Amino acid sequence: MITIPSLTAEGLAVDSEVPVAALPAADRFALLMLSTMPWGPRLLSKIKITEGPASDSPCWLCGVAYDAGRAKIRIGRDQAGVRRRVTVYVAAWEALNGPVPAGLMLDHEVCSNPSCCNPNHLAPKSNRANTRRRHMSTKRPNQYGFVGAARHPRGKAWQARITVSDTVGKARTLSLRGWPTPSVAGLVYWLVAKAVYGDDFYDHPRPEVTPDEEAEVRAYLIKRLPSILSKPWADDVPGLVSGLTQLLADVTEVELAA
Ligand SMILES: [Zn+2]
Repeated sequence: MITIPSLTAEGLAVDSEVPVAALPAADRFALLMLSTMPWGPRLLSKIKITEGPASDSPCWLCGVAYDAGRAKIRIGRDQAGVRRRVTVYVAAWEALNGPVPAGLMLDHEVCSNPSCCNPNHLAPKSNRANTRRRHMSTKRPNQYGFVGAARHPRGKAWQARITVSDTVGKARTLSLRGWPTPSVAGLVYWLVAKAVYGDDFYDHPRPEVTPDEEAEVRAYLIKRLPSILSKPWADDVPGLVSGLTQLLADVTEVELAA
């Protein structure tokens, strides 16, 4: 016999700035589905439904009670019997849709709000499409005209900072050393980001540097790339190993030819 839950979303214990009855049907359905998971009530007790940028379908912030937007939750076991610990928004999406397809990761397509776990704001995307979208929307040249070059937190040097995401949405930031000028840091960024994200990820011009600086960047990459490739999480970031292996081959070849 099939038991149909007599619950309605309106009866759920959830903190909401918007009356639950006023939420769109898809959001109320998602709340109900979540509440039926063994860990659902625990998750629901931690979220706050707020009027977000997509006001007809508010964001569910899970960064309010948890200490960070990328809070994790334990949700049962995987096929090998190991307890699964996933990001809260992954748990919420999977409750509604089943497992995230292999090789894809969830993108906050509707709200661009990493603290949001409203499954209706999420869509599975390839890492490249996801990173590219985020990159296009947030990366702007700095005041010197270079993308990806940032002041080193200590001192006056510049560094290239590149953020990548693995298949479960965990962000990893590569901070690539202190450089004397933003143009050199910009070139390091341009080379590494292009290798990881793919050729078409953006159309910013290659920063111009002197031949000496160019040689220094190549020597640095030949030393540094193997250590990035040997990181335990390198294989979890789609495109990272193949892209950086190719870049390493390219810079090594130029070095030999020079
Ligand atoms: Zn949202």
